[in-house]
Amino acid sequence: MRKNIVAGNWKMNTTVPEGVKLAKEVNKALEGQDVNCDVIICVPFTHLVPVNDAIDANKLGLGAENCADHRSGAYTGEVSAPMVASTGAKYVILGHSERRQYYGETSETLKEKVGLALENGLTPIFCIGEVLEQREDGSYFDVVKKQIEEALFNLSAEDFSKLILAYEPVWAIGTGKTATDDQAQEMHAFIRKTIEDKYGKEVAENTSILYGGSCKPSNAKALFAKPDVDGGLIGGASLDTESFMGIVTAF
Ligand code: PEP
Repeated sequence: MRKNIVAGNWKMNTTVPEGVKLAKEVNKALEGQDVNCDVIICVPFTHLVPVNDAIDANKLGLGAENCADHRSGAYTGEVSAPMVASTGAKYVILGHSERRQYYGETSETLKEKVGLALENGLTPIFCIGEVLEQREDGSYFDVVKKQIEEALFNLSAEDFSKLILAYEPVWAIGTGKTATDDQAQEMHAFIRKTIEDKYGKEVAENTSILYGGSCKPSNAKALFAKPDVDGGLIGGASLDTESFMGIVTAF
């Protein structure tokens, strides 16, 4: 059975002391709570080691927000999948729209990153989603299908089963404009069908597909109630413990 998951994406926010404080707060809020989902925080590279030391891995999973498309070598400023894994992190966000948009990430580089993450025991949280223009011109199903096919369909069924997917309509990220629960469900069902056509029903049914884009405590319940929405990737609201927990407890 696929898991329900709520994952925070802190993006480029908080200093190390601020991040450790926030992680401890979230960890504490989870103590003694019987939540119905896995909870993960994805934090800046600089925060991985101290945050890993500050949290209980049984309560709170830890991930990075990116990794390099090479194993090691002369790539100044990059952080590799083995380096991320060596911090104790278990997850890595890959293909976030901000990386695609501002840092020119393509399906080709993402394919490399996914392979390296898996090789190093990291679970990719792989993001896909259309921009506003593609939503408006009706090409959004084709766009999302192409993103999945190009970066992920080289994987074996066994490797694909290790992924978490996150559908994040770019027009809803950080804009306060959420996709309606029906829009999310429609796309999530389409993504699941796309997986089924390639890898079969069992793999499709077992893949967690998260929704991301201005998810908040006030809309999380309706989104998570949809049969193909298995949780959320949370940006802004993950920087505040009360808001983040409001989403976690929406399950
Ligand atoms: C994100 O960046 O993954 C995201 C969903 O951001 P926000 O929740 O702030 O829209």
